[in-house]
Amino acid sequence: MEEGTATYSSKDLMELENRYGAHNYHPLPVVLSKGEGVYVWDVEGKKYYDFLSAYSAVNQGHCHPRIVGAMTEQAQTLTLTSRAFFNDALGPFEKYITEYFNFDKVLPMNTGAEAVETAIKICRKWAYEKKGIAQNDAKIIVAKDNFHGRTTTVISFSNDEVARENFGPYTPGFVQIPYNDIDALAEVLEDENVAGFLVEPIQGEAGVFVPDEGYLTAAAQLCKSKGVLFIADEVQTGVARTGKLLACDHENVKPDMLILGKALSGGVYPVSAVLANDDIMGVIQPGQHGSTFGGNPVAARVAMEALEVVRDEQLAENAQKLGEQFRARMNEIIQNTSLVKLVRGKGLLNAIVIDDDPESSTAWDICVEMAKNGLIAKPTHGNIIRFAPPLVMNEEQLDECCDIIEKTLQEFNAQ
Ligand code: PLP
Repeated sequence: MEEGTATYSSKDLMELENRYGAHNYHPLPVVLSKGEGVYVWDVEGKKYYDFLSAYSAVNQGHCHPRIVGAMTEQAQTLTLTSRAFFNDALGPFEKYITEYFNFDKVLPMNTGAEAVETAIKICRKWAYEKKGIAQNDAKIIVAKDNFHGRTTTVISFSNDEVARENFGPYTPGFVQIPYNDIDALAEVLEDENVAGFLVEPIQGEAGVFVPDEGYLTAAAQLCKSKGVLFIADEVQTGVARTGKLLACDHENVKPDMLILGKALSGGVYPVSAVLANDDIMGVIQPGQHGSTFGGNPVAARVAMEALEVVRDEQLAENAQKLGEQFRARMNEIIQNTSLVKLVRGKGLLNAIVIDDDPESSTAWDICVEMAKNGLIAKPTHGNIIRFAPPLVMNEEQLDECCDIIEKTLQEFNAQ
């Protein structure tokens, strides 16, 4: 670092994080200082294609001028009132988002995990007040290998030992079943104390596991037949990422509760939400749930603009088209390498599985090399690399990205 100036090198900045920040992440050694559309730049000025999009938050591309414009304008006018008072941005946003996703009501929060917690609370309250389950007996079914966030309750129903270990005691009331197993769901739904089934339509963090076609339809139907709420966590899959507005739309499934976050703000500001109809959302009364920042004017304006951009720029259609192009190209590439077992995904939420021990560092090493070649992505679990670029990408850019991935894999093959 140059003394007396604020000029830090990438190395300086990594050292600062290492020295002063808690070590709760293990980032790729790239220090970013600027983003625009599908590109990001590091502090030395090197340009990269972003193939993570901040875990699918930046679907609309980095620093989208319309979203940043909405935020700037609102930030100069009124930022936060708390919900102790009304504000002039929340109502219009609530009308807009409920019509956009076709639900009666929305409950705005900030992060994805908070929205999941919100859905859990609503589901339990609904179970006691509407379904008639005895106090404290309500159960929520979840899937094995789920990822719904990092709060104490949410990790209570994870089976990722790294995420759970030494954080107990855990919140009870959750039952885990295998993902993509409709018979297992049918079996647990025989229990009359089941209130809800919380599920990711595609398991993103687990490594982009796409369930069999018909799974979501069958699951939603089973839940309906048993009077159990079908709760879709679309924090990662939602807002056009998988080639439809929602991943549930691929099967025309309408969840009883929809959880959104990340790209709801285009990655500009933390905004999350739970959507449901009146018979469910009506169980929440004043004082029973909330957040100082939830539904603040900046969040409301940002989210409205971010959703408008998705529609105006036809990002779902683009994700669908480019996703097909990407998987076709990857399938060609992996013919010529024994390094990659398969490619899978929907729209622009994809992953390649490296043919190696999940404990090995191959996927990490490939990501480090890809960064040197101008594309940043990150392994999810062990030997799986997720590829999720911003949805504003065009065909030529995607082709160039596939060239970079191919070149990097060839370099590894040659070793
Ligand atoms: N739910 C899903 C499906 C996610 O993928 C994530 C984050 O990756 C979350 C919830 C948690 O969101 P947040 O990190 O904003 O709390």
